[in-house]
Amino acid sequence: MMPIDLRSDTITRPTPAMREAMAAAEVGDDMFGEDPTVAKLEARVAELLGKEAAMFAPSGTMVNQLALRAHTEPGDEVILDGNAHIYYYEGGAPAALAGVMCRCLPGVRGIFTAADLEAVLRPTDQHFPPTKLVCLENTHNRGGGKIWPQELVREIGTLTRERGIRLHLDGARLWNAAVARGVSERELAAEFDSVAVCFSKGLGAPVGSALCGSGEFIQRARRFRKMFGGGMRQAGIIAAGALHALEHHRERLAEDHANARALADGLSALPGIELDPAAVETNIVIARVTTVPADRLARELDEAGLRVFTTGPDTIRAVTSLAVPAGEIQRALGVFERTLSKLSS
Ligand SMILES: *Cc1c(COP(=O)(O)O)cnc(C)c1O
Repeated sequence: MMPIDLRSDTITRPTPAMREAMAAAEVGDDMFGEDPTVAKLEARVAELLGKEAAMFAPSGTMVNQLALRAHTEPGDEVILDGNAHIYYYEGGAPAALAGVMCRCLPGVRGIFTAADLEAVLRPTDQHFPPTKLVCLENTHNRGGGKIWPQELVREIGTLTRERGIRLHLDGARLWNAAVARGVSERELAAEFDSVAVCFSKGLGAPVGSALCGSGEFIQRARRFRKMFGGGMRQAGIIAAGALHALEHHRERLAEDHANARALADGLSALPGIELDPAAVETNIVIARVTTVPADRLARELDEAGLRVFTTGPDTIRAVTSLAVPAGEIQRALGVFERTLSKLSS
């Protein structure tokens, strides 16, 4: 039997319809501004996010790091949660590529308040690095797919505007937040100067991300995209996959959320697993393993045909996506149950 792969929503493969759209894409040299499919995708993403302009790039890491580089100068300070993807999972890029100081806040599942932020802001003084940027992540990956409460986002937006600090959103999974909350991406993006989104997570495109913001900001980011090696030529082939995903795979994210909730409900009943199913808001389930080290459980599950990801010494992560149909969730729970009981005997 095929293994059930719950490691990530990045494992999705293009559907036959997506491959057809990609094969049929009109293309040109995008570095000469001549790829009509890339142009169409950028216009569509800017419209969905309610921003003046958007830029296509190969990965979510690249668009986040382009945002950091384009908003700052080396030596500036960026404030973000200590579990933020930008800080935790991007290979040290803020230091290497933007040369910025990262100041981490101890968020709760990635969430902090305007008061938490205000408490670490320092006056303008030659001793202090200038704080230029604050980054939020919605949904929050290491926070277990947590959605930012809009009220807190608005308060942080007000504070950063008052202090002349820019606000960036790592919205790799903003699509999930929009579907789960039943609000538009545009509304969730409103407070932000820049927004990064991914097409290759739950949306199921094989490659691609975009950065949105003002026209002037995106123009500045384009130069850094070239510098970072992210300028592409007949990129319409992959942009077509992203466009197809935007039009056909956003609404269906609700199925992934229902599957994640069903998985969490089942897991919470198993001995050796601790989690609150009510905390599962989107497609990511993070559970604490109380009987064996998380990597031991992950290895045993793998041998039994179920793949998960460890996020710490005693935590595992399972992510639902279009690669995992609803019928597989009960089968996954069966593998969990048998493996946990084998390990405890
Ligand atoms: C996956 C992810 C990214 C981007 O990752 P890439 O693998 O570089 O595309 C950025 N932010 C978050 C929160 C993510 O989960």
